[in-house]
Amino acid sequence: MSWEKSGKEGSLLRWYDIMEAEKYEYTVGPAGEQFFNGLKQSKIVGSKCSKCGRIYVPARSYCEHCFVKIENYVEINKDEAYVDSYTIIYNDDEGNKLAQPVYIVLIRFPNVEGGLLCYAEGNVKVGAKAKIMNFQWPLRVKVD
Ligand SMILES: [Zn+2]
Repeated sequence: MSWEKSGKEGSLLRWYDIMEAEKYEYTVGPAGEQFFNGLKQSKIVGSKCSKCGRIYVPARSYCEHCFVKIENYVEINKDEAYVDSYTIIYNDDEGNKLAQPVYIVLIRFPNVEGGLLCYAEGNVKVGAKAKIMNFQWPLRVKVD
């Protein structure tokens, strides 16, 4: 990134250049750390807003409805995961047809905001129960 900027000091400045995003490392933050540490123990960890009671997965630090900081973490019942939506990938990055199509599903949990993208196998359809087979990131689920 260059330091070439436009605008007036003291107001919003803009930098023009290409950001080499792949060269940076980002931390997952306190809520992300809770979530990923949970996965290591085969748990799905969400965060619960103390004001409105909403639960978010993956855990996040602020409630987007109340704008308050969230510091309560809760374990989500992973047995209640279901397929919210999905997509099927037929080609690789270069356009070559894959030997087997790849299913990517968004799983959600009842009364929980947010969801998790996972690789899926089985009879993938919207609303179907999803069993988490592997807690390595990205998760893998089997759909009944
Ligand atoms: Zn809230």
